[in-house]
Amino acid sequence: MTGVALHPAPVPFVRLDAGDAALFEELLDVVADVAQRGAFTLGVEVERFEEEFAAYCGSAAAVGVSSGTDALALTLRALGVGPGDEVIVPANTFIATAEAVSAAGARPVPVDVDPLTHLVTAAQIERALTGRTRCVIPVHLFGAVVEMDPILALARDRGLRVVEDACQAHGARYGDRRVGTLGDAGCFSFYPTKNLGGWGDGGAIVTDDSGLAEHLRLLRSHGERPRYHHRVVGGTCRLDGLQAAVLRTKLRRLDGWNESRRSLASRLSAALEGGPVRVCGAAPGSDHVHHLFVVRSAERERLRDHLAASGVATAVHYPVPVHLTEAYRDLGLGPGDLPVAERLATEICSLPLFPSMSDDELARIAEAVREFVPGGDDDEHLDIA
Ligand SMILES: *Cc1c(COP(=O)(O)O)cnc(C)c1O
Repeated sequence: MTGVALHPAPVPFVRLDAGDAALFEELLDVVADVAQRGAFTLGVEVERFEEEFAAYCGSAAAVGVSSGTDALALTLRALGVGPGDEVIVPANTFIATAEAVSAAGARPVPVDVDPLTHLVTAAQIERALTGRTRCVIPVHLFGAVVEMDPILALARDRGLRVVEDACQAHGARYGDRRVGTLGDAGCFSFYPTKNLGGWGDGGAIVTDDSGLAEHLRLLRSHGERPRYHHRVVGGTCRLDGLQAAVLRTKLRRLDGWNESRRSLASRLSAALEGGPVRVCGAAPGSDHVHHLFVVRSAERERLRDHLAASGVATAVHYPVPVHLTEAYRDLGLGPGDLPVAERLATEICSLPLFPSMSDDELARIAEAVREFVPGGDDDEHLDIA
């Protein structure tokens, strides 16, 4: 076939590293180097990545592990959170936040979120405290930053641990600090689509508590120190050498990519102003690294169909809040219990946003959204924000 394409290529939801030829070559080289040396398990690449990631975040230590979920679960175990304990989590988050609590043997307690920021607040946490509450996990969802000071003050008052779920917010700032360094520990995922993503699964914990970091290093690798001397019951939860090498290379570009995400998000927001959807942005004065670009519509499914027909990929993060998932039926919560999270789950729609997005792709997303004509039953829906 020759000639002019009548239908432009669809706008994908994300574009991974193979879409950047120079980066891809560089990554293939570092992967080949690790494979050549057979340096697959822990070792120098993991140690260097840990040093570099700790320095980047501004924390004393980083511990590389197998995933973001394991980062959270191991941290809870290392903090002594377990059976009989309750851990407060937001109802609108990726299920992993709650699963990590369950994996540690504790009970996740989902709470509702702020209607404006969609994030957990100190007030929601305070309402859910019981005598069994040991820990809270604020989630910097979509790359937006939770208002941490009131949560940290509440935790100090009540003797609670604070573990940040920063799996969607690598590099985001809260005041002059990076997220992950504000509570007892911060947990990151390096799943391929995250702001810092590997070529498979990976995760890390950052902390200023050297005792906690040491405990995590034991837990991630069979409690072993030295070899074949097992001090605590751990598991196979290590960051791979191959992933560490990929992540070291990509970490050097993270701030630039986050800056591209901020600039694309602000242009897309401006282009959608006055249009048929509402953009979920950062709270005034707070940072946002736009892991996802989320809009709201009372007719979410019709919007998604319209965008699909226009060649714009979308996704929903997430269609079912934690307390209404089949997996967490036994928490005893039902429809109506956490109304803001439930409402969001029916209205939110994530549009494509990734650092290598072209001007043309951005313009096509904006145009496709603006062409959406709501069906007119909007009046039945009272605004919550
Ligand atoms: C991705 C993610 C996790 C889990 O990370 P994995 O590496 O996939 O285990 C946890 N919490 C949030 C908010 C996430 O987005």
